[in-house]
Amino acid sequence: MTTPAVRVRYAPSPTGQPHIGTVRTALFNWLFARHHGGKFIVRVEDTDQERLVPGSQQNILESLKWLGIQWDEGPEVDGPFAPYIQSERQKLGIYHRAAEQLIRGGNAYRCYCTREQLEQVRTQQREDKVQTRPKDPCSALSHQQRRDREAEGAPSVVRFAMPSTGTTSVQDLIRGEVTWQNEVLDDFIIIKSDGFPTYHLANVVDDHLMDISHVLRAEEWLPSTPRHVQLYRALEYAPPLFGHMPMILGPDRSKLSKRHGATSALEYRDNGYLPEALRNFMVLLGWSLDDKSEVMSLDTMVQNFTLERVSKPAAIFDQEKLLWMNGVYLRQFSHQELASRMLPFLERDLDKRLLPVDMDYLRRIAPLIQERIKLLSDAADLTSYFFQSELEYDSANLVQKGMDQMGTLAAFRRALPVLTAAPGFTHSVLDESLRAAGAELGLSPRQFFGVLRVAVTGRTATPPLFETMEVLGRQRVLGRLHEAIGRLSPA
Ligand code: GLU
Repeated sequence: MTTPAVRVRYAPSPTGQPHIGTVRTALFNWLFARHHGGKFIVRVEDTDQERLVPGSQQNILESLKWLGIQWDEGPEVDGPFAPYIQSERQKLGIYHRAAEQLIRGGNAYRCYCTREQLEQVRTQQREDKVQTRPKDPCSALSHQQRRDREAEGAPSVVRFAMPSTGTTSVQDLIRGEVTWQNEVLDDFIIIKSDGFPTYHLANVVDDHLMDISHVLRAEEWLPSTPRHVQLYRALEYAPPLFGHMPMILGPDRSKLSKRHGATSALEYRDNGYLPEALRNFMVLLGWSLDDKSEVMSLDTMVQNFTLERVSKPAAIFDQEKLLWMNGVYLRQFSHQELASRMLPFLERDLDKRLLPVDMDYLRRIAPLIQERIKLLSDAADLTSYFFQSELEYDSANLVQKGMDQMGTLAAFRRALPVLTAAPGFTHSVLDESLRAAGAELGLSPRQFFGVLRVAVTGRTATPPLFETMEVLGRQRVLGRLHEAIGRLSPA
């Protein structure tokens, strides 16, 4: 027997910001497709018109692009099974044809009950202590009764007639065999009163028409699976293979939500996380290479992404680990790369008067902060003093412990000629000559360099002082010393 070509899909509903959990689903499907040389398809499931959120589809696609998850078929790229947006597919009549086929075969029926009527039936059955699943009164209507209801123009839905006895099983690729008692499953709706198919019908019809080989989705969809299995059977479609991925929980083991921090991928982008880091972090939410490897290349992920390595227990979302991982990736970058990643954040966060940022300058700043930067959104704060023409700081910070105003002014006056005359404004020359000047004044390096640090950067803690001065350049440094002298000199 030949194994079918791998065709997997990510089928988001555009009902809000793309939650990290659904993006993990996309990532796992994509890695699975890449591992097997198969196709990764994006299909937008927007048949629940009431829950649509404008802009959501765009955000979902943008998250995928940002994370480097390219789809082979789907919106924007199309493909042999276009369109890939269910509301557009609805116009093709495919869901209604499937529903008609089910009705003709006795596997579905029109139901005219209102919500209240059904509630009454259920309450009655509970009172009568009927053990089996409540029967929908419309499942037993005669042809004539149906014709009458239609003639009255009664609104209706189409329900799937679930078998009421026996069991439905699925051999889940991750969870093993899972079995449900049919009597606990209801006659679910497949076409709503607005004429749109429900998720269950549209999902099954499209997975079939799009030749999907594996349905890999989050565990929360497991309860839908017996319904889907029954639909496949009734429609005489060959079912795909199913695999349900573990839930993602917060550190307190409750379902991951806003309470635990950002939950949408784009929020992570805007908060300064790298796509590489988020992708690497997400792959470990329910999959592992060997229980210990954390930071790994995309190639390693693709080469090793098999479902045997996907775990059953829930994965815990650990923000601290993500932050740590982001730092690891930031430190691996070349200076050029780090500078270009920081650029958009500087353009967003720096005072607009300091723009445009000079890329050559930024490339020289990058190594100075590379050890400290944890998020790209820290970039403006970590580097603003390189760009400002006037620093803002408390003049009192210039005066170091054990020194007074006069001593501090003396330190500047000594530093000025040294900095003016330094042959070459490099950190090694500055180090040597300033060290000697400080010693002549009888100041400790901590005092002398402390004075200079505050004057040159406006801060008490910075990257190494001489490297910082070298990048700032002689002119800026001298200007800042004069400015500091002005601040301390009696008016
Ligand atoms: N539209 C469903 C969702 O929003 C798809 C579930 C599935 O993959 O079957 O996640």
